[in-house]
Amino acid sequence: MFLPTTAEELKKLGWDRPDVILVTGDSYIDSYFIGVSVIGKVLLHAGYSVGIIAQPDISSGSDIMRLGEPRLFWGVTGGSVDSMVANRTAIGKKRRRDDYTPGGINNRRPDRASVVYCNLIRKCFKDTRPIVLGGIEASLRRIAHYDFWSDSVRRSILFDARADYLLYGMAERSVVELAGCLRAGRDPRRIRGLCYISKELPADCLELAPFEAVARDADAFADMFHKFYRNNDPATAAPLAQKQDTRWLVQNPPALYLQGKDLDAVYGLDYERDLHPYYSRQGKVKALETIRFSITTHRGCYGECSYCAIGVHQGRAVRSRSRDSIVAEAQRMVRHPEFKGTIYDVGGPTANMYGIECRKMGGNGCCGDKRCLTPEICPSLGLDHGAQIALLEALRAIKGVRRVFVASGIRHDMVTADRRNGDAYLREMVRYHVSGQMKVAAEHSELHVLQKMGRPDCGSLLRFRTRFFALNREEGREQFLTYYLIAAHPGCTEKDMKALRSFATQKLKLLPEQVQVFTPTPSTYSTLMYRTEKDPFTGKSIFVEKSVKGRERQKSVIVPEKKKRSL
Ligand code: SF4
Repeated sequence: MFLPTTAEELKKLGWDRPDVILVTGDSYIDSYFIGVSVIGKVLLHAGYSVGIIAQPDISSGSDIMRLGEPRLFWGVTGGSVDSMVANRTAIGKKRRRDDYTPGGINNRRPDRASVVYCNLIRKCFKDTRPIVLGGIEASLRRIAHYDFWSDSVRRSILFDARADYLLYGMAERSVVELAGCLRAGRDPRRIRGLCYISKELPADCLELAPFEAVARDADAFADMFHKFYRNNDPATAAPLAQKQDTRWLVQNPPALYLQGKDLDAVYGLDYERDLHPYYSRQGKVKALETIRFSITTHRGCYGECSYCAIGVHQGRAVRSRSRDSIVAEAQRMVRHPEFKGTIYDVGGPTANMYGIECRKMGGNGCCGDKRCLTPEICPSLGLDHGAQIALLEALRAIKGVRRVFVASGIRHDMVTADRRNGDAYLREMVRYHVSGQMKVAAEHSELHVLQKMGRPDCGSLLRFRTRFFALNREEGREQFLTYYLIAAHPGCTEKDMKALRSFATQKLKLLPEQVQVFTPTPSTYSTLMYRTEKDPFTGKSIFVEKSVKGRERQKSVIVPEKKKRSL
């Protein structure tokens, strides 16, 4: 079922008022790819009545008031993407398109959507509370953070939004506990994965430098970020506290990961895989095309690429669904009236991490003092693509499934390093799962830039490329590789971009068009480098291209002006 979004739907369900109302910056697609749908369905499954208001009109109370006031709490999210990232390009221009808005025109999601929606709720419902923030925008802005769009360090979004609580990361467990506490009238402030504001410094917290200090001093900001990053693993994290004005932002340790049956249960809930009819009348939502018949196989990413926030938001340790759960989902998909036989993606943050577990940690978090994949792949990582091969085979065998693609990115270094099944995996990919072009995150060619990005050197990329084309010849296929590249990452100069151009033309034999200008999104190591202009691990100064013209020039080394699309 869809969660109700109008008063008529509430009435049909026999609910006088919902326990929880979720407000989101995306349109309402009922799918587990959309965080707000997952939270709504998990709460519903736990026995709470939940309504959704998607992309409310912020100029009037007509949308936000249509379900009344919730019995327990408001849940507010900016949507699947941070609203500033969704609305602004890497050089600060307004984006015209929005894949999560009916009709595709970017005119429904305000900048700093979480803050705007909280203000709207308070304007229409005086003294209503509590308001709970969630989703990626809140998660990555939960402590003092650098905000590229205002070129400033901002305090926790919990203070800016004047909300009561913030649930960060994967919040299924935390939100059910929170609803339980609020229903029973208990104090929720010990719930894992929750941030709150306190007048006192709680006794057991690790204290971060105050907001004023980190806003002023780049080294204090770097020190704060290291502590924040190291305390993000549920197995080892301490509670954190940071003074923001006269009060403290308190971050409880992260929620324990959902694993095994608990993880399967979230993906096994009843999702419509469709846009709610109230919103489908307003036009098509592009995001639905890619997520409707796709499957998520796992959460987390061992990669820790410096520019990516997945590790902070989802966690580093990979947690995989069982094969049975994924196959059962594909069988349900086949029965969907719109399914035409193609599963468009079987993946996750990095597709080929499915089923791969650290043998040393055994699902209990990750090492705090070293990375799993760089500078080389840790021998304790049980690197074996066998589970993925078996999963893809099982999906292909389902009656009614004609094609199964893997569109999520893969780590080429993991494929080339897997002596047991890396080659067999790549052969299977070439034979069955590539839709003409395989996308590879090359990112750069120059070692010092790749090191700052937390990426492997390009040796494995070239070995992967050679093997990919050899297997295509053997399998009688004509398929290609496309490469993602990043311009203007901290440490990267125009000279480095020229070297990348030579590498691409000479070694990759093409000039990629997929070049992104680096965007410093909140709470990543690359953003820390952008803000401090220092290598965060050596403290040495690094070059950072900050001018709009210089950043565009770096991109134009690869993509000449006339070919350039929106950044
Ligand atoms: S032992 Fe290796 S693979 Fe396991 S968490 Fe530590 S660095 Fe990662």
